[in-house]
Parts: sequence; C-alpha cells; structure tokens
Amino acid sequence: MASFESLDPSFDPLLPKDAEVKKLASGMKFVEGPVWVQDVESGYLLFTDIPANKIMKWSEHDGLSVWREPSDNANGLTRDNAGHLVACEHGSRTVTITENNQRRTLLEQYQGKRFNSPNDVVVKRDGTIWFTDPTYGLGKRVKELEGEYVFRFSPTDNALTIVSTDHDKPNGLCFSPDEKRLYVADSGKPKSIRVYDVKDDGTLANGREFATLDKGAPDGIRCDEKGNVWSSSGDGAQVFNPDGNRIGRVLLPETAANLTFGGKDGKTLFLTARTSLYSIQTNVRGAR
Ligand code: MG
Repeated sequence: MASFESLDPSFDPLLPKDAEVKKLASGMKFVEGPVWVQDVESGYLLFTDIPANKIMKWSEHDGLSVWREPSDNANGLTRDNAGHLVACEHGSRTVTITENNQRRTLLEQYQGKRFNSPNDVVVKRDGTIWFTDPTYGLGKRVKELEGEYVFRFSPTDNALTIVSTDHDKPNGLCFSPDEKRLYVADSGKPKSIRVYDVKDDGTLANGREFATLDKGAPDGIRCDEKGNVWSSSGDGAQVFNPDGNRIGRVLLPETAANLTFGGKDGKTLFLTARTSLYSIQTNVRGAR
C-alpha cells in the first residue's frame, strides 16, 4: 500500500520522496488526542485511548506504556505555554490541567451549565485556551447547554466565552501559523472544516466553509508551519493548502481520528487511528 498520494505539485516538498507510514503500536480501542512532549534529552508522545480510559505514552526508546489510568475518558490533549498538559475529558465533562503531576479541574461549566463533553483543545500564544464541546461523550447524561459550541478561556482574567455557535459537532481545531485564522472541524453536518478570522479582542469573525473531505469526516486537524491544514480522514490524513484546495494525502489502513507533529526535529507526523498509532516522516513542522 502506498504511504501517501500527491494531488498537486505543492504537496511534493512536504514529504521525503521515500517517506513511509510506520505502525508504532496497536491493540488499542479508539485512540485520539496525540501531543508531543519534548524534554531536554528525549521526547515522547502522549495520546488517549478513550474507551479504555487511559492516557498512553509512546517513545522511540521505550515503546508503548500506560501514562495515566483511569483518565476519565480523556480525548483531546495539548500543552499550555508553560508545558502543562491540558486535557478534554468525556467522563468528567471537564477540561483539566496537570501541573507537577497533579491533575485539577480547570473548567467544568458555562454560566452554571455543565459542558456536554469537551473534545479537543488548543492554546494560543497569548495563553488563551480554546476548546470544542460536542455531545459525543455525553452518553445518557443530561445535556445542559443548549448547543455545541467552541469556547475560549482567558486564564489572566478568568473569562470563559462562547466564540462560535454555527456548528453541528465542533471537533478538532487549530490556528494558522500567524494565529490570524482559526480552523474548526465539524464532524456532524455538514462534515467540513470552517475557518474564522481571529480578532485582536479574541472574538471570531467572517466564519466560512474552508474544505470538505472526500473520505470520512474531519476530526483532529493541525496546521503546519507553512499554513497547510492536515486533517484526519477516513483514509488517513488529507492536506489542504491555505486556499482550501486538497493537495495530497497520507494513506492509512485505519480511519484516523487525530494527528500531531512531533519527534526530535518536530517533523514526524503522528496519527491516532482507531486501534493503532502510526507515524510518517515529513519535511515540515507543526505551526507552533
Ligand atoms: Mg476529536
């Protein structure tokens, strides 16, 4: 099976000609939320196995291990500007932060109403925390909020605001390299990626359709340093240039739910795809 497919000449410089998909680990239930953690001498990937109630750790040196169990069915992960892990949790319906190995609840409600089930999260360079809240992890519990929104939390003034309401199932999200754009994947109806202009006051404007996949629904998405958007998809990952044109794809034998850039040089793309963790070497770093 080919590891990738180029649909436009602008895709060719993004991957080494001989880049190959590698299966790094398997036998899991439904993996999500990959984030790379770089220490002084080594690095490792954290990612979640949502139904198995675990956060997993993978490193080149030590392979796969369990990093946290139970995880309260954690889904999307990221790190704040101080390097602390920020996690969206379906079980607790909260966003948590882990500092010095202590997990604490950062956010659990909006105006007295509990979140649905926070799904994915990103941190802007100004320290604000942006996350999506679809109902996928709600189960039979009561839905308290009217809709499924994108939220922005400002730790400096402790302000939580809804920044967009025009989604069915808001899911993955990422900023462009200059943070002037926010991309939000909607895995409901329509299955598409929307883009917004980010204003200086932290509000969004000019929401519009950016791209649709030709296989599966967009879930986790990441920008690379050149501004291309890499979206998880039914066939692995689909890559769109900043104009929203599909320029290529990474091909996996399983449906991917999320992806992130990492590795020693920041140019390895890690993909969480149902039961397995995959990687492929690229020539670009993530936007942050
Ligand atoms: Mg997701």
